[in-house]
Amino acid sequence: MDRWHWWNRHYGFLASTYTTIKGVTMENLTVLGTGVLGSQIAFQAAYQGKNVVAYDLNDEILAKLTARWEYLKPLYLRDLPEATPEKLDAAVRRIRTSSDLADALKDAEIVIEAVPEVLQIKRDTWARAGALAPAHTVFATNSSTLLPSDIADATGRPEKFLALHFSNEVWRQNTGEIMGHAGTNPQYLDTVAVFAEEIGMMPIKLKKEQPGYILNSLLVPFMTSAAKLYVRDVADVAVIDATWRRATGAPLGPFEIYDIIGMETPYNLNIQSEDPELREFADTLKRNFIDQGRLGRATGKGFYDYE
Ligand code: NAD
Repeated sequence: MDRWHWWNRHYGFLASTYTTIKGVTMENLTVLGTGVLGSQIAFQAAYQGKNVVAYDLNDEILAKLTARWEYLKPLYLRDLPEATPEKLDAAVRRIRTSSDLADALKDAEIVIEAVPEVLQIKRDTWARAGALAPAHTVFATNSSTLLPSDIADATGRPEKFLALHFSNEVWRQNTGEIMGHAGTNPQYLDTVAVFAEEIGMMPIKLKKEQPGYILNSLLVPFMTSAAKLYVRDVADVAVIDATWRRATGAPLGPFEIYDIIGMETPYNLNIQSEDPELREFADTLKRNFIDQGRLGRATGKGFYDYE
């Protein structure tokens, strides 16, 4: 059973217990940051018919998106029965790139931010976006570990600010965790839930702020335990992964998941840790993986080599 079917078999019932308000649609999305997740969010939204502007720091970075689209297309064809080369090409045509923030934001109805998981970078990015975006534009962060309340005041429009958290490989691991802070107007939680559904996500609304949402409250301790097994050299990564898969029936072990996440986010998280073992893990990720171009599955190499 592939992971899509595994997910649906175990959690598909959530979709039927969740209701959203229909009728409020947002067609124009701007994505801030076009790395692992930003590129996937932009492509997925465009694939579902939205007009997308992809913003990043400079045109050199944006030029790499062509390769990202070519990486994503075969995965859509593999995983989504209705995907065709024509639909995927049409998605690419719906994406405009810009390294000029004012230009990138001028028509945005919703902005999703996927810049590095560093609080100051997020706050600076949102402060600039808040000053430039139209007043009606709704703001969502894809942060994995920060809280909306850490960032909200920087946006200048805290009532329209919330988190919409995607899971890597958004076209099939399609959860959209929606989490406001105390000052978010609930109307925007509903609007963003509708948008999430329209771009093919299963919207999951949290009742309150929770560091790591539902997914990472479960996943991060698991990945941290794997990092410690690695630093302590308890067993090879393939053995650790195989143990987890065989004993639980889960489709992937932790190091296979690291390869999907990509090395940058775990590096950024662990290098800030107070735990020396986790800082050592971050140093290893930098030295043996990031500096060697082994950035994860998206680059064909990580803990494992891929075709
Ligand atoms: P990444 O390093 O792959 O991409 C970050 C992108 O942001 C890069 O293209 C970089 O050039 C750009 N950037 C840097 N500073 C910027 C700025 N000031 N303005 C605009 N763009 C800027 O990181 P990622 O893995 O895509 O993670 C991005 C966010 O998504 C993080 O908050 C992370 O927690 C979250 N997230 C990641 C995953 C994952 O599996 N990688 C999953 C869910 C959520």
